[in-house]
Amino acid sequence: MSIRIGILGYGNLARGVESAIRQNDDLELVAVFTRRDPKTVTIKTEGVPVDSVDNVESYVGKIDVLVLAGGSATDLPEQTPKYAKLFNVIDSFDTHARIPEHFANVDASAKESKHVGIISMGWDPGMFSLLRMISTSVLPEGENYTFWGRGVSQGHSDAIRRIDGVVDARQYTVPIEAAVERVRSGENPELTTREKHLRECYVVAKEGADLARIEKEIKEMPNYFADYDTTVNFISEEELKKNHSGLPHGGFVLRSGVTGLNKEHKHIIEYKLTLDSNPEFTGSVIAAYARAAYKLANEGSFGCKTVFDIAPSYISPLSGEELRKHLL
Ligand code: NAP
Repeated sequence: MSIRIGILGYGNLARGVESAIRQNDDLELVAVFTRRDPKTVTIKTEGVPVDSVDNVESYVGKIDVLVLAGGSATDLPEQTPKYAKLFNVIDSFDTHARIPEHFANVDASAKESKHVGIISMGWDPGMFSLLRMISTSVLPEGENYTFWGRGVSQGHSDAIRRIDGVVDARQYTVPIEAAVERVRSGENPELTTREKHLRECYVVAKEGADLARIEKEIKEMPNYFADYDTTVNFISEEELKKNHSGLPHGGFVLRSGVTGLNKEHKHIIEYKLTLDSNPEFTGSVIAAYARAAYKLANEGSFGCKTVFDIAPSYISPLSGEELRKHLL
């Protein structure tokens, strides 16, 4: 029997989860829920209903794990604890500073209703967090480095779109290769924000807009751009559509550590992701961990979990015996 999956909220990530489910024979998409009029939302999987979030309760007993695919800013803090009362849930909450609070809310809700709630799953937080934790445990004396990109930051692209005179924009976060090389050499450098990443912007401006003012507003925007070297390229709408419509991303997690009685030996751990599609990769991670949510719930291990709390074999469709034979 397959693990029955529901998806709540249908955006980029939801489409990624939907396509990942098709690549896993033991997972089955049962329904998609939306806050919009379900008639206006078309999904890719034939025969699967799109229903209103208002009807989600009628699916209790028909869904094993509900994937919450809403946005981290305002949707997930409310949705994940709410729906953990009804289902085992999994989300990709990525506001790092608010994870402790989100964990506590989901934990209380899931424990009370005897469900599993997995939060902050994806690549960062998610795979990168796991690699940071493993590397830090294995090499306790050392430094961690995370570089993101080259990839599209949706938050930064949105911030540019809010500037007066801007029609559309895409922002790429670009790791500075010289900094990555210094880390790889085992130098353990102290790097400032500006030394680690560049910000590259492609902007479609309204006809007659003051381009110099837009460029200045972007480069001086606090928190988003002011601490970085930023380049601004004005392009046409057609060019943006043609060359910048994908959502690539990726990055590196590195730990540079030492061992030996005199700390004479250097070790570098490097984990690299190069992703053609951020939402499809994130959706693939979520699909694997939805399997873990199902297994943990069957064992009665209720409450909130993060990537740190889940043993690797729980995310695999293979048995322990098969894993030991083929992958150990
Ligand atoms: P998105 O496309 O903006 O979708 C978010 C929600 O907006 C959807 O659930 C949907 O809810 C609604 N929506 C989507 N398209 C819409 C449209 N055309 N009109 C009106 N509403 C629409 O966001 P996303 O790219 O899927 O990203 C979701 C979250 O994933 C992000 O906030 C981010 O935090 C997280 N994420 C995490 C990682 C990680 O590594 N942990 C990586 C990538 C993304 P309704 O269907 O209910 O309207």
